[in-house]
Parts: sequence; C-alpha cells; structure tokens
Amino acid sequence: MVALAGRFAPSPSGPLHLGSLLAALGSYLQARAQGAQWYLRIDDLDTPRVQPGAERAILDALVHFGLVWDGPVLRQSSRREAYRRAIRWLKRHGHAFDCGCTRREAQDGTHGIEGPVYPGTCRGGLPDGREPRSVRFIVDSRVRAVNDHVQGVYTQRLDRDIGDFVIRRADGITAYQLATILDDHEQGVSEVIRGADLLSSTPRQIALYDAFDWAPPAYGHLPILVDAGGEKLGKSTGALALESHAPGAQLYRCLVLLGQDPPPAFQTASVARVLAWATDNWSLERVPATAQMTL
Ligand code: GLU
Repeated sequence: MVALAGRFAPSPSGPLHLGSLLAALGSYLQARAQGAQWYLRIDDLDTPRVQPGAERAILDALVHFGLVWDGPVLRQSSRREAYRRAIRWLKRHGHAFDCGCTRREAQDGTHGIEGPVYPGTCRGGLPDGREPRSVRFIVDSRVRAVNDHVQGVYTQRLDRDIGDFVIRRADGITAYQLATILDDHEQGVSEVIRGADLLSSTPRQIALYDAFDWAPPAYGHLPILVDAGGEKLGKSTGALALESHAPGAQLYRCLVLLGQDPPPAFQTASVARVLAWATDNWSLERVPATAQMTL
C-alpha cells in the first residue's frame, strides 16, 4: 500500500499571510488526521518572483504555528535536471513540442477560460526559419473531471478551454504545471490540499500524470481569502500581518474559516492544544465548498 502523504508548497515571494496559513493548516490537518506524512516544498523556480528572506520567514512562521513537516524541505531549484529529463521524455514520446511562437503569435487562437487557446501553429513541427522558444504539452479533447474533495466535480476540456500549454517557458524556467506534478510524484504525495485558485490548473496536471502513466493524487481545494475588493490576500494586496504573539488565536481564526467550529475557549489556547483538538476533530466535509471567502 502506498503511504499517505500531503504537502504544503508555498512560493517564497513573500511571508506567510492569513490566506497561506489557512492552506497550510488545511493540508496539515488533512494529513495528520489520517496519520499521514506532511511534506514541505518550496516553489522557488520562478526566480524573478523569489524574495530574499521569504523562505526563512515562511519556515519560521510554520514552526511558530506548530505546523512541523516531515523529512527534508524539497526546493524546486534543486530539481532542474529532473525537469529537463521529464521534458525530453515528453517530447520523445509525442506529448510535447518545441514552440517558436512569440507571446503575441500564441494568442491568435480562440478564447479559453484563462485567456487565448494556443492556435496549434508549431504542433506539427517548427515552421521554417523559426527557433524554439518554449515547449508546449499537447492536450486532447477528453473531458477531464476532478472529483474534488471540497469543491465537488470540476471538469474541463483542455483542447477547448486551455489549449496546448507551456511546460518550459521562453525564459527557460520549467512551468509550474509540470514542476508541481514531478515534485508531488517524487515525494509520494497522495493527496493535494491547496487553495481553490489552483482548481482550474488541476485538469492540466491530471493530463500530465496521464502522459507519464502515473496515478494522480486526490485533490481538495480550500476557499481562498479575498479582500473586500475581491483580490486574493497576498503581500501585494495588503495581506494581514500574522500576529505572531497570539498564534493559537490565529489558528483558531483559520479553523473557524475552515468550518471546523472550534470551541471558543481555544481563542486563548496554546498552539499545541489547538492543533491537538483540530487534528482529532478535523473534517474536510465541513470546509465551505466555495472558491472564495471575503475577509
Ligand atoms: N506554489 C503555489 C502557490 O503558492 C502552490 C502550488 C501548489 O500547491 O500546487 O500558489
């Protein structure tokens, strides 16, 4: 039997905020309530967005909130060779192709759910005189269904909704969609609990698992926290600073948002007590099945 494992995969583009604490706590509790491993991965591939000191701040904050991970931290920046091998494999097996289109040219197709659908220009081979810029994954017309443990059934037809998508960007960086599945597979992650802003990425990730003939993990997408203007909480949109002097109270607040109905006495309890109660009483079914919650 495959051991159960969950993970939290923050990008070190800023410190932990209430929205990312919510995702960390939800994935931690879902793993720990099942006696599973809980891993930490740092998504530091997109180097222009990496902020010096952010990784340290995230790790310290997780420890402060009692969310202690198993094993070594996996950094995407240490996995570049594995990504290169996987891209070669996908190209050799007819799942991916070199694309010479500029961003403008790639936008000449119909409109999908996240923007233009790639028109297919380089799918059959690079046109004469074109240099490879990016690498794209070939999608098909199957309906991809995610049976999400929080949001319910979510479907996409990748050819119509997304199009052949980039797995290596023109700047040479492996795209998130591919890196995340290679890393989740490497760490033996069997259940991915993360923010609902990534639900629309999941059919692409399932298609990649299929190409490698690997079983995808189970998924649960937690509501993300947005401000009154509908913006995702984050550094750039005025994230609330975590009040580090009252970590138990912040965890309590997250548990309320996650629908767990913690006893009010926990507002002043220690991190250890809140987490012990939350692990014993955790129920993913009680998490609101909405994509967003306004704070
Ligand atoms: N690094 C991504 C983020 O911070 C999350 C990736 C994932 O959970 O798959 O939004």
